[in-house]
Amino acid sequence: MKDKCGIVGINSNLDKDVSSFVYYGLYALQHRGQESAGIATFDGGKMHSHIGVGLLTDAFKDFDFNFLPGNRAIGHVRYSTTGDSKLENSQPFLTTLNGKNMAIAHNGDIVNSPSLRCELIKEGYEFTSDTDSEVLLYLIKKEHEKTNDFILTIERVVEKIVGSYSIVILIDDKLYALRDPAGIKPLAIAKNNQDYIIATETVAFDVIGAKHVRDVEPGEIVYFENNKLKSYKVKVANSIKNAHCVFEYVYFARPDSVMNGKNVYKTRLNIGKHLYDEYKIDADIVVPVPDSSIPATIGYSRASKIPYAEGLIKNRYVGRTFIMPTQEERSIAVKLKINPIKSEVKGKKIVLIDDSIVRGTTSQSLVKILKEAGAKEIHMLIGCPPIVAPCYYGISMASKKELIAANNTVNQMKEMLGVETLGYLSIESLVESIGIPFDKLCLGCINEDYPTNVPPII
Ligand code: SF4
Repeated sequence: MKDKCGIVGINSNLDKDVSSFVYYGLYALQHRGQESAGIATFDGGKMHSHIGVGLLTDAFKDFDFNFLPGNRAIGHVRYSTTGDSKLENSQPFLTTLNGKNMAIAHNGDIVNSPSLRCELIKEGYEFTSDTDSEVLLYLIKKEHEKTNDFILTIERVVEKIVGSYSIVILIDDKLYALRDPAGIKPLAIAKNNQDYIIATETVAFDVIGAKHVRDVEPGEIVYFENNKLKSYKVKVANSIKNAHCVFEYVYFARPDSVMNGKNVYKTRLNIGKHLYDEYKIDADIVVPVPDSSIPATIGYSRASKIPYAEGLIKNRYVGRTFIMPTQEERSIAVKLKINPIKSEVKGKKIVLIDDSIVRGTTSQSLVKILKEAGAKEIHMLIGCPPIVAPCYYGISMASKKELIAANNTVNQMKEMLGVETLGYLSIESLVESIGIPFDKLCLGCINEDYPTNVPPII
């Protein structure tokens, strides 16, 4: 599973350049996208931008930040779910808006972007990318040409688009931020002396010393006048329920982030504790699948008093692996990423904790690695319920036919994985672990109850 994108925006009232602060904020969000990165700034007269492919350090290799002057800036790190991985799809996207410059950076997925794109092409808009974010850019441009009012423009655009979106927009020296009316994607606000910072996750604030003030509310437009934070709620938000993505808590977000008022690390500890409540296994050690399952494993270990052990070590320097033509090469690729500590696992009854199972191929490999290292028993516990349907909101998952839990019972999966136990956390325990009411969460890929219209599920 891969998430799509992280965004940062900074509004400073001081006469200073803020692009390097956006860079550091994006650095803290690198886990949300490694395909490309970019920053756009406004210096009082001109818009400047730089985009590049790869990690932030690749995209900005040997870059001189003097070329990105200005005290207003936005930035983006990208993982693609719509559109290929190429420079043309890198954000921020730029255009003009009634004689002004506009830059936009988007996290999320616009479900109905194909039909909107066709309409815009018929009307003469020329696309340089194949992303839904450029659809958003031109929709805003088109509506703004009619209204010449940004708030009214967003009201109209929100009525046309379906999906998830957290967005930062720079229109000359004005910074705007918008979160979709269901709040599917996170977006938060911080302050650092004279500067306001907007970012996908609060970890981006910590790195630049800013203090988290609050989240951008679902359906809220945030903007700044004379360095005062202004807020407007789009009308449609009053009739739409919140639907925060549960997988931000289970897997995507960094554990040191706070999201919708909930501490992600604490949620994962709770998940481990609830896993123990539901599955009391007689085992020698509890082992996490590194890295995102570590807090849940600590939670299970604390509740069960079974010692926590690092049985698997992740090589953090392995990027994307190629599609390997032979089984031997595929097995090398998995071992490159993860290696067992034989002395920890040999002869042991192990509770192995993972955050989720998508296709099941990684889990199969992990079990094989542990068995080859001499594990006596493997009891696999998963920190969320079975994923039985795709995500339409910016999470690259799989189609229904590829999802192992959509096509097999838990018993069948247990056999396929070759484990002694396979146990999934219940929905009730997941919701309780997060601490947000059931009806304010998106659980679409778990229960097929999506917060918006979605295409036919395949
Ligand atoms: S469908 Fe699943 S992954 Fe997608 S937003 Fe909803 S809970 Fe998150």
